[in-house]
Amino acid sequence: MGTIKISKIKKKGNEYTKIIEFPECALCGQSKELVESHVISKMFYRWIKKTTKSNIPRFRGIDNEITQDGYKVYLLCSDCETHFSRFETYFSSLIYQATIKNIKKTVRYDNRLIKFIVSLGWRAIYVYLKENPDAPAYLKWYERTWKEFLTGKSKKLKTNHYLIPSNFQIDDEYINDYIELFIYRSVGFGLSNFDDHDFIWIQIPFYTIVFPLRPLIIEGYGTHKLKNQGILKLNQPHIIDQSKFSLALFILEKCRKISENFGFDSDHKGRVFSE
Ligand SMILES: [Zn+2]
Repeated sequence: MGTIKISKIKKKGNEYTKIIEFPECALCGQSKELVESHVISKMFYRWIKKTTKSNIPRFRGIDNEITQDGYKVYLLCSDCETHFSRFETYFSSLIYQATIKNIKKTVRYDNRLIKFIVSLGWRAIYVYLKENPDAPAYLKWYERTWKEFLTGKSKKLKTNHYLIPSNFQIDDEYINDYIELFIYRSVGFGLSNFDDHDFIWIQIPFYTIVFPLRPLIIEGYGTHKLKNQGILKLNQPHIIDQSKFSLALFILEKCRKISENFGFDSDHKGRVFSE
């Protein structure tokens, strides 16, 4: 019953009326019954579940959370949820299926891709703002801007969005175990500051999605910046100039945190960062 806000009972003689008010959907603003949904689309959890050998798949959420089934909230009405799921299907069929099957191809995308990406960023910042009501005002501007874009109120986006294949390795097999776990088997999101950049990051298997907040662009990542339409080369080597902002170092930093917070592989743990 998590979606119901207020229920009033009116009694008048034998008459009995119960009024149920639903909270507003975070996207369309209408007072409707909300559905419980994942902040990050469930298809990513599904893929991890499908490819995990253990009977009890566990997912790594932001910082300290491990959940069985991903982080869920009552956020959207079923119409808005359906609206978002169309973009999800588009991303899955055009990009994600080829990515997980390691098929080398060049795809031509349209603005459904950016709608999908922005829908993830918007959900993440919405949840962040709910949990941090004292967050700086400029974050509210992003939430509003993305919502207006998603509902079709505005056609132009002033923000930038990067879909970055995050498969990299370093020359240390133990640390690489953690990196692989983070890159291929985690779903998470957060708001971070690193290398003098404030940004929202979303990790899904194979990709890190970065929404720079301040500054508004990330130098060196131009080839991974999404436009209204464009071309993506899937499963092909890519070089990123990380001198201004190092996503690899950011991920390493996260992996170090994961290794401290979780004894997810006690055989390995002692050996990984003890030296
Ligand atoms: Zn709605």
